[in-house]
Amino acid sequence: MIERRILLVEDEPGLVFTLTDLLLSEGYTVTHAGDYASALAAIRSGGFDAIILDLMLPGGSGLDALREMRSRGDGVPVLVLTARSSVPERVVGLKAGADDYLGKPFDSEELLARVEALVRRTKAGAGGVGGERRVIRFGDVEIDRDRAEARKAGEPMQLTVQEFRLLVFLAEHPGKTMPRNRLLEEAWGYAGAAASRTVDMHVSSLRQKIGDDPAKPRWIVTVRGFGYRFEAEA
Ligand code: CA
Repeated sequence: MIERRILLVEDEPGLVFTLTDLLLSEGYTVTHAGDYASALAAIRSGGFDAIILDLMLPGGSGLDALREMRSRGDGVPVLVLTARSSVPERVVGLKAGADDYLGKPFDSEELLARVEALVRRTKAGAGGVGGERRVIRFGDVEIDRDRAEARKAGEPMQLTVQEFRLLVFLAEHPGKTMPRNRLLEEAWGYAGAAASRTVDMHVSSLRQKIGDDPAKPRWIVTVRGFGYRFEAEA
């Protein structure tokens, strides 16, 4: 069995206990850092498949640790733990280079599912488990998830982070209609009815970039009153 190593950055003792227990029971190897300085040191020492990062830490902010690692080109997937109410915090986290978010309090199954997804990404990128190469293709579009790049007819596409996330999420669930708030959550890390127009705007821009006809889209289909659906090739 391939070892899967998690760095848990969290200062709340009860949560550390619960999370460590949970991760160990799933077969992960867990390293714990309980303050900013030790988090920074652990991240720099490397070797993790994913990092669970609390933002409010004794001695500093998890966001600074995240920015620091990304500025060094460290691409280890990071799951940020945030207060559920704090939308601005999530947005800032996304900009700082977080891969995913989970609001406190959270469901253990949800946490495990997200950690698992992040670790799979690392292992796939490293040519690990099954050597799965995560490239999605449709028409003349090619999305390389590991490299976070998209090409159309061989030319690099200029996608925003949100457009990239939207496209990947939709294309990974062909034939499945996704409500706007789900898309919002996937691409922006939060959900809110007021912001669902944001999704429409980005889908519209995305269609343009992948060469979809807005009047009669081939790939990203509008499901009136509900959301969007990606149609795979027949
Ligand atoms: Ca904390």
